Amino acid sequence: MSSPRKRREALVYHAKPRPGKIEVVPTKKHSSQRDLGLAYSPGVAEPCKEIEKDKQNAYKYTNKGNLVAVISNGTAVLGLGDIGAEASKPVMEGKALLFKIFADIDVFDIEVDTKNIDEFIETVKNIAPTFGGINLEDIKAPEAFEIEERLKAELPIPVMHDDQHGTAIISAAALLNALELADKKIDEVQVVVSGAGSAAIACTKLYVLLGVKKENILMFDSTGIINKERDDLSEKQTEFATSRSVETLSEAVENADVFLGLSVGGVLKPEMLSKMASNPIVFAMANPDPEIDYDLALETRDDVIMATGRTDYPNQVNNVLGFPYIFRGALDVRATQINEEMKMAAVKALARLAKEPVPEQVNIAYAETRLNFGRDYIIPKPFDPRLIAEIPPAVAKAAMESGVAQNPIEDWEAYKEDLLE
Ligand code: NAP
Ligand code: MG
Repeated sequence: MSSPRKRREALVYHAKPRPGKIEVVPTKKHSSQRDLGLAYSPGVAEPCKEIEKDKQNAYKYTNKGNLVAVISNGTAVLGLGDIGAEASKPVMEGKALLFKIFADIDVFDIEVDTKNIDEFIETVKNIAPTFGGINLEDIKAPEAFEIEERLKAELPIPVMHDDQHGTAIISAAALLNALELADKKIDEVQVVVSGAGSAAIACTKLYVLLGVKKENILMFDSTGIINKERDDLSEKQTEFATSRSVETLSEAVENADVFLGLSVGGVLKPEMLSKMASNPIVFAMANPDPEIDYDLALETRDDVIMATGRTDYPNQVNNVLGFPYIFRGALDVRATQINEEMKMAAVKALARLAKEPVPEQVNIAYAETRLNFGRDYIIPKPFDPRLIAEIPPAVAKAAMESGVAQNPIEDWEAYKEDLLE
């Protein structure tokens, strides 16, 4: 997105015909005096009184149950860094658009002007009654970890920091399928992780939950390997500190089965890729330039299974495959949180979906002749209408089975039909 033409196109898109990407639309009749007397005073007092008696009635008489707050303080926006609350607003509005078009969830984007953890938490807690769920977005690590942990513990509604868990969930689904194609077992694979930031830590933690052995993981940051001799590690990084006597990335990738890149472009050299085990799985997800260029990786060896964060290559690890549907499922059973079981259910449902025959409309949307489970198609595409039918029920079910659903679904067929409407 750097040519002057593309820049202008993006700016015009945001400015015209009216500034921004979302608006508020009434859902009730509002054309007569009678309608207005119901929508506002005096009629509005009745639902107020019902909610005063029992707060759960807010789900019955207001939009709370379908309303998510996308909240940022603008400290880690895209690859742009700490650009401030106002400058993060286009991203949060964009997320609102995606929630709406993919899962019919309404969003208020909220940009909070503070870098102070306590102040930020206080703000979110104070406005939480408005919402059915909270999507934390583009908040710098390590602050984001504490903010999410504390809000999860203190609020009765689902809270998820999508930058951590979204990427973890989608890439974990891709990993399960890549392992199947490569005929490798998750509890046997050697994994090298480039990057030890919020995304890398969240992904690695989820892979461990799925079965990767901690002793088979080697993780790197910009200064080198994360090992037990270092005294500059965060608590989260210490969890993945190795005692093996490996020093460089080049040594680490020798015979490794999986390379997970959530760092910076270009760190995986072709000669390193050549040293990996057969059918190497390479998720090079640094944006905009992956740890190894897609075409270069395939030129280097044809048995590689590649995923990136980019739209212009196969196997894009795109968070939009996750958050709309995870929140949809969580809201629909009025879950009190988004727990590990629910995330895991989303992983499995995504992985499963990629193995099923692809509807023709998806082929058309992506100008593909035939998408088929294989090296070039290990995760579903964002414009796949089956996502809304499959992922929320899986998440909702996991919420029920793990005991966090306040409003369990009884008729699954009717629920699926509702989702497809
Ligand atoms: P972050 O918290 O800033 O972490 C970046 C990590 O990369 C840090 O641990 C940093 O180490 C490390 N790093 C920097 N240079 C390195 C090098 N030469 N070799 C090894 N590690 C190096 O950022 P993040 O949010 O985790 O995101 C990391 C990258 O992943 C970004 O490029 C982001 O765009 C991408 N990402 C992609 C997706 C997706 O495709 N869906 C999702 C999330 C993130 P130091 O701490 O030593 O600097
Ligand atoms: Mg983000």
